[in-house]
Amino acid sequence: MNLHEYQARALLKAAGIPVPDGDVATTPNDAEAIAARLGGRVAVKAQVHAGGRGKAGGVKLAESPGEARAHAEAILGMQIKGLTVQKVLVVPAAAIETESYVGVIVDRVSQCPLVMVSPAGGVDIEEVAAKTPEKIFRRVVDPRYGLLPYEAMALGFRLYDDVRLVRQAAGIMRQLYVAFLQAGASLAEINPLVTTPEGEVVALDAKIGVDDNELARRPAIANLRDLSAEDPHEVEAREAGLSYIKLDGNVGCCVNGAGLAMATMDLVKYYGGDPANFLDIGGSSNPQKVVTALRIITSDPSVKSILFNIFGGITRCDDVANGIVEATRQVDLDRPMVIRLTGTNEEAAVRILEDAGFSALTDMDEAVERAVALAGEAA
Ligand code: GDP
Ligand code: MN
Repeated sequence: MNLHEYQARALLKAAGIPVPDGDVATTPNDAEAIAARLGGRVAVKAQVHAGGRGKAGGVKLAESPGEARAHAEAILGMQIKGLTVQKVLVVPAAAIETESYVGVIVDRVSQCPLVMVSPAGGVDIEEVAAKTPEKIFRRVVDPRYGLLPYEAMALGFRLYDDVRLVRQAAGIMRQLYVAFLQAGASLAEINPLVTTPEGEVVALDAKIGVDDNELARRPAIANLRDLSAEDPHEVEAREAGLSYIKLDGNVGCCVNGAGLAMATMDLVKYYGGDPANFLDIGGSSNPQKVVTALRIITSDPSVKSILFNIFGGITRCDDVANGIVEATRQVDLDRPMVIRLTGTNEEAAVRILEDAGFSALTDMDEAVERAVALAGEAA
């Protein structure tokens, strides 16, 4: 789950990190009022779950409340990476001397938290990593001790020469590490972490991604979820207990089990196709899940063919077959569908499908090849 910048800023502030105080507006009127209250120059910032807002025109500086209002008018309703901006954050604009990057992530290699810093902040860190990897510095944290002061200082010296700045940055890194742990985050980053002409180190942006598995024991964090800011199909899928991730291809995949779902996607690619999504309907046999799954897949216009790949273990093939039949009654099916089922109650499933006018395959290769071919013909 991703937090909005204003939510992440509040968590950083609670951890003691210097963050300029601002407020959130949903209308240009409110943005103007906040700017008037703050006084002086302000930054008006789009609140969407996407990076690169600056480049997309979603971060603008205003010299007056009237200008803040005009910026809010332009930014509210704007689309950034397919997401509509519904809120703006209005904060006092800092004077910037330097921009750095500071982040904490979960590192798969060391299976530990990892602190990453770069003096080349402000821009996409992915771009820095690709073009000038020597400007990124990393330190694996031993979770038994946390980020120790000398470790944070060593990282701080990668950012600044002035020890007064290094001390501030080191303190911020240790506070960021605590915020990361407390939120159950998989990512917590400040980009840019700036220095001001007065010699202060300040966080001007904040991004926190929370591990969904941590939400059950963190109700306060779970409450921060903003459903209106998420992809509606991913929301619908999650509420139905499905794992759904939209991808770029045109073969809509509906599979039970994450491992089989990944193997299916691999096989789609192997036969020259491209999956439109990852979708795991899970281990249960609830026909309603199949209905929801098919509705989500068919609502994606880039889907040209639909592939069901079901291995019946705990999942009963006949339940899935009933779900498919029920789903095609509820959903207007205007694209070709290939169904492959094998395992528990396979014979009953084939009968149900054939009675409803569908055919079913048992061979996975054959089914995937056919779904790829059908998508190719349609495209
Ligand atoms: P992102 O592009 O989505 O990461 O949004 P950021 O919050 O990082 O803003 C992008 C850029 O806008 C920053 O790197 C800064 O250069 C600039 N910016 C953001 N806030 C301020 C501010 O308070 N003062 C000034 N002068 N620039 C700012
Ligand atoms: Mn940023």
